[in-house]
Amino acid sequence: MDLIVYNAMLNGDRVTIYVHDGVIQKIEPCGELPSGAFDAKGKKVFASFLDVHTHTREPGYTHKETIATALKAAVHGGFSGIMCMANTKPVNDSVLVTRYMLEKAKEAYPHGPYLYPIGATTIGLEGKEMSDMKALRKAGCVAFSNDGSAVNSSAMLRNCMEYAYGVGALIIEHCEDPTFERIRPINEGVMSSLLGVQGDPDISESIHVARAILLSDYLQIPIHLAHISSHRSVQLIEDAKKRGSLITAETCPHYLFLDDTITEGYNTLAKVNPPLRTAKDREALRDAIRSGVIDMLATDHAPHTMYEKEQPLDLAPFGISGLDTALSLTWELVKEGVIEESDIYRLWCVAPHSRFNLPYTTFEEGSPADFFLFDPDITWELTPENMHSLGKNTPFIGRTMHGKVTAHWIQGVQVI
Ligand SMILES: [Zn+2]
Repeated sequence: MDLIVYNAMLNGDRVTIYVHDGVIQKIEPCGELPSGAFDAKGKKVFASFLDVHTHTREPGYTHKETIATALKAAVHGGFSGIMCMANTKPVNDSVLVTRYMLEKAKEAYPHGPYLYPIGATTIGLEGKEMSDMKALRKAGCVAFSNDGSAVNSSAMLRNCMEYAYGVGALIIEHCEDPTFERIRPINEGVMSSLLGVQGDPDISESIHVARAILLSDYLQIPIHLAHISSHRSVQLIEDAKKRGSLITAETCPHYLFLDDTITEGYNTLAKVNPPLRTAKDREALRDAIRSGVIDMLATDHAPHTMYEKEQPLDLAPFGISGLDTALSLTWELVKEGVIEESDIYRLWCVAPHSRFNLPYTTFEEGSPADFFLFDPDITWELTPENMHSLGKNTPFIGRTMHGKVTAHWIQGVQVI
């Protein structure tokens, strides 16, 4: 055996985990401490997470984040893999950029966490010409997305869905109707009226959610919907799934905890696209992750420097840094009774990995030894200093966080 983890708490049972050649050999009820074993001292063991929506900012914006710092934040946050969006500079619409990203990741973390590049759906994210999906897929892209904006033309999106499906990959669609003027910093509603700023109506999202559902149903090709933020979109997804639609959807922790009242005082740290909406939307999203209408969680990790965020509300960039906080916030949902502890495995591991055809541990013999120990009793305050990401831009700064990763193995190799 290469690794024996003794006295770990797996789904309420005290077990010893035996690992050889990067895969789980067997799991036994906890007995005597085997020699050379790692003593988990009764800490919880979770299967490693996959984040299907990360912005790593490299190449091009390494003042915001690098691939190495994103992976560092990921592994400390319980992730063995992150799927990185294509809106880098240059855009990831060529195999050279894909290869560059993969090399950088391998240099920083040869044993994982893994970087899974997402190729641009169209060249330059411009929505005009399809990217060379076949070549990008071959180079290592696991999905395609123009995240940051929608593919505006429905006909183009249809072609891209068909082509992506042909090369064994899915489109991840950022749902936002661009005919509602973009660059609207917060949700349209009471708060935007009070602050006197132009708001983004929630229907700008749900109109495109409806479009994606219609295309998917018509073509019988699946599509994945990014960062769902509104109760109206949840309703559309629920109705579609009842009819057997092939769509899947994600939402992010910030939409489950915050609403647009946090933007009072022109708080640019809460400026994110899609915007934080109302308490009604937040509750609908909480119900949707519990019921499975929303399939999975994702961070939409969008690091920026503080000097960029310290601009006026309409100039500050959109985005929240999310890799450092995702796990603790999810644990808070368990503590609040919004979800069960077992839902963590479904929302962060099984659904994301299986949707994008990536391996994960089932804790059965022969499955990859990708897991981490979690101590729910550690409480800590979120400060810029104790974040691993270069992006300190989060409205959760100052919050008391619950639980921490104390050790993490990927393919049986201890990475922290
Ligand atoms: Zn997006």
